[in-house]
Amino acid sequence: MDSDQIEAGSENQDKQNHGASCQNCGRQLVGEFCHHCGQQHIAERLSIKLLVKWVTKPVLNLDRGLGLTVYELFVDPGGMARRYIAGQRKKYTNPFVYLFLWTAIALMANSLFFSDVRADVRNSLKEAYQNLQIFSAVQLEAYVDAAIRLDTYSAQVLILLSIPLAFFLKLTFRKKTSYNLAEIFVFNIFIIGQVKLIDIFLILVISFFQLSFNSYLYSTFTLMTVGFIYGGIGFFGRSFWGVLRIVTALIVGYLLYSLVMLTILITFVLLFY
Ligand SMILES: [Zn+2]
Repeated sequence: MDSDQIEAGSENQDKQNHGASCQNCGRQLVGEFCHHCGQQHIAERLSIKLLVKWVTKPVLNLDRGLGLTVYELFVDPGGMARRYIAGQRKKYTNPFVYLFLWTAIALMANSLFFSDVRADVRNSLKEAYQNLQIFSAVQLEAYVDAAIRLDTYSAQVLILLSIPLAFFLKLTFRKKTSYNLAEIFVFNIFIIGQVKLIDIFLILVISFFQLSFNSYLYSTFTLMTVGFIYGGIGFFGRSFWGVLRIVTALIVGYLLYSLVMLTILITFVLLFY
């Protein structure tokens, strides 16, 4: 159905509804949707055709918004986030749905294709910490286990990183931006969601060419950085100091994130093993 048909359809519906009252709250109807409670007026009885429409509509709607969101986040991520925050929301996918959708698929791809890649992470981690000599043999095993799990996991669930990042972006821009913390957070979620989408292809490529797990981590890290700078220019505005603020926030955010993760991990292993 094209948009003209939809328009004509809802005009007919409006005429049809004229004089009717809302079946949910009883108020006089002006159009297809009740101005008071929001219920859509459907004059006909329930039918199989109507039930099929109810089941397929949310899926098709997600699909429509999804295509546009994917496309705009590729060509103009900062502008897309800006428009979403300014109020153009209905035509895009909700940022959290967007992030969780790609994260879930990336996690599946990761567990399906990365099982043998993890073996070389195990060996290189073991070597590195054996030289440091802070762990006993048992602790080393436990640490490597936990680190691999956390690495895989944290590379997937970058939402954890988006919190300090949003905070540091707000801090570096302060009065130079009118966005509040929640709005910057939404921008972050869109960027990280897009990184997750590209990640799915990255996982396929890396497992196909049998590259190392570290090459996956480095690529994701690079993608994030490029995404935030490229998106940030469109979102915060193009200026040298703007880019410098974004890079500063990224460096501080990454460092803090890694430091906290590492501290938790080492403390956990030393305390419990
Ligand atoms: Zn109503």
